[in-house]
Amino acid sequence: MTSSDIDVRNVTIIGSGPAGLTAAIYTARASLEPLVIEGEPSSTGDQPGGQLMLTTEVENFPGFPEGIMGPELMLNCRAQAARFGAELKTEKVSRVDLSSRPFGIWVGDPEVADPTYRSHAIIISTGAKALMLDQENEQRLIGRGVSTCATCDGFFFRDADIAVIGGGDSAMEEANFLTKFARSVTVIHRRDSLRASQIMEDRARANPKVSFLWDTTVTDVLGDQTVTGVALENVKTGETGTLDVTGVFVAIGHRPNTDLFKGQLEMKDNGYLVTDGKSTRTNVEGVFACGDVQDDVYRQAVTAAGSGCAAAIDAERWLEDQH
Ligand code: NAP
Repeated sequence: MTSSDIDVRNVTIIGSGPAGLTAAIYTARASLEPLVIEGEPSSTGDQPGGQLMLTTEVENFPGFPEGIMGPELMLNCRAQAARFGAELKTEKVSRVDLSSRPFGIWVGDPEVADPTYRSHAIIISTGAKALMLDQENEQRLIGRGVSTCATCDGFFFRDADIAVIGGGDSAMEEANFLTKFARSVTVIHRRDSLRASQIMEDRARANPKVSFLWDTTVTDVLGDQTVTGVALENVKTGETGTLDVTGVFVAIGHRPNTDLFKGQLEMKDNGYLVTDGKSTRTNVEGVFACGDVQDDVYRQAVTAAGSGCAAAIDAERWLEDQH
């Protein structure tokens, strides 16, 4: 391939969750003919359509008074982007070169000299992954009692007994939030002291519906069609047992999907991309970031979609200034 054969795009969107697809809808309607590299399913949890493809009903996305299934919402967004001319490719980006413009984007073998695409602007919307225990039954029961998002799914656990796994701020926040619905919330933590900030810990300890199981790991999630309990092991004594719960919220942290951009884009200590103020601009001119990959605070589908819109507008204005 000669470098003149390389496909040069106005704007390429990497990632296809609510942020990426909203950016695709907006840039397509602005006649920028965006290319969306939507990713490929993988055993490590990569998923075109993002985290909503792994959820069941979404009740808090505005516009759907009866709720909508997560995968259906994302397929609708995808169809909407395609309707306005976005080109969607089910491929995975293996390498980017942001050192000169038009930027280089590789899919497939990252070692080949020439990139697969070049693009004047890039919108990064590669999202984040909720960390999980990586146990077979935990994975099988996602959306059937196992969740990683109390804000999304807590409502479905009215009067239920729930376990929250983890000892950080997320676990405390989820535990407190879940007591709005649940009868009881048991925080299961692998050590005898929390990682959470003092104020979050105090709040959880003061909540009469929250109790703690210390030095304990969840060795299995129990249940055939839906969750009925968890199997436990005390890491100090080796004692095993079970706890009857119908909900298991795994709150052991998130990891942004930013490995591709290491050494090229500014990141926070926790790996999230840094954007400039209220904009979606990264430290490299022409590269914009939106959605969970740059948001370690809100992490909601609707906030991701909102920032996808902002990224599209930022990219469109930047391209206009360039030409
Ligand atoms: P985190 O601080 O990394 O805490 C993760 C917790 O999960 C830790 O207690 C850890 O145990 C436990 N854990 C990790 N892997 C595990 C495994 N395989 N099995 C069992 N337990 C495991 O993550 P986070 O709570 O999501 O917080 C991330 C960041 O966001 C933090 O900086 C936090 O302050 C911030 N945050 C802030 C707020 C707020 O202020 N409102 C809310 C949420 C998050 P160990 O303690 O033993 O390592």
